Amino acid sequence: MTRVFNFSAGPAALPEPVLRQAADEMLDWHGSGMSVMEMSHRGKEFIAIAADAEARLRRLLAVPASYKVLFMQGGAIAENAIVPMNLLRGKAKADYIDTGEWSKKSIKEARKYCSVNVAASAADTKYTTIPARETWKLDPDAAYVHICGNETIGGVQYHHTPDVGSVPLVADMSSEILSRPIDVARYGLVYAGAQKNMGPSGLTVVIVRDDLIGQPHSLLPSAFDYKTVADADSMYNTPPTYAIYIAGLVCAWLEAQGGLAAIERHNRAKAALLYDYLDTTQFYRAPVARDCRSLMNVPFKLADEALDAEFLKGAEARGMVQLKGHRSVGGMRASIYNAMPVEGVRTLVAYMKEFEARHG
Ligand SMILES: *Cc1c(COP(=O)(O)O)cnc(C)c1O
Repeated sequence: MTRVFNFSAGPAALPEPVLRQAADEMLDWHGSGMSVMEMSHRGKEFIAIAADAEARLRRLLAVPASYKVLFMQGGAIAENAIVPMNLLRGKAKADYIDTGEWSKKSIKEARKYCSVNVAASAADTKYTTIPARETWKLDPDAAYVHICGNETIGGVQYHHTPDVGSVPLVADMSSEILSRPIDVARYGLVYAGAQKNMGPSGLTVVIVRDDLIGQPHSLLPSAFDYKTVADADSMYNTPPTYAIYIAGLVCAWLEAQGGLAAIERHNRAKAALLYDYLDTTQFYRAPVARDCRSLMNVPFKLADEALDAEFLKGAEARGMVQLKGHRSVGGMRASIYNAMPVEGVRTLVAYMKEFEARHG
């Protein structure tokens, strides 16, 4: 068996110990005589698995007791509709900050449900920056302010939590959740598809402040009503059981690594290996402004695009896959989530140097 260094943006690499444990437990989970996939979501075994996953997630992120943690389906893209349908609470307007492809998708969908005020946009820098907070034109009557914490495609990330006063801050953290500690109390709602940094696809985690739920849009499907889901402990309908189990194992792995402060140090060291090298060479270019470079998704371009295919082929021959950038931006992108070991990044940088020496 050979495992590659998988730089996929998502679904993405999972920690190997998690995959091994899942394999060991595949046929018989803890003496139950069945796989987690085969369990009733209402049985005592699965209820314990889900409760354990939630407890670990709450501990890791220090989620205050006044917040619900919901296990849902539909991915972050469904949340682009589910968030306004739950959080508008009779209001007609919401603020959105436009920092790239995922923000644009959120904005487009929200426009079906409310008047969207794009309070700031990085379009003028081709989405290589985060607009400075002082430039945001927030609307005091907005139901919430929406940001994308980490733009998975463009590779820009907030390295601070913006202060938006008393209006609830909503963040799409799909590609950065669990990569570092956050102060949940600064947010009204955080959502994330699991398949980047938390587990397999099919699970969406929503962390929402109690007082924001319970005033849904009249046409909101019950299965997407945060209050309904919360009141049923995420079991209003069948939740993505296996994905919740794996997310629980990922959380246990993170705790064993020392928690989120430790994982953040690790992530910073990995990202620095790549960015520090990119800053020394003209052969490759990192387009994003230094103060908002993502620690999770590192886009870069070869100065000579004609070498892209050869670069990717050589990477694959050395066991490094999924380095091709998103079709909307081209070039390369190395996604280096929690599960990417530092050796993966060292191997990539060594290959980049070798490739430069050969072609530079
Ligand atoms: C991947 C991603 C999405 C889309 O998630 P789906 O699970 O495909 O709906 C949305 N936002 C961000 C920031 C992402 O990285």
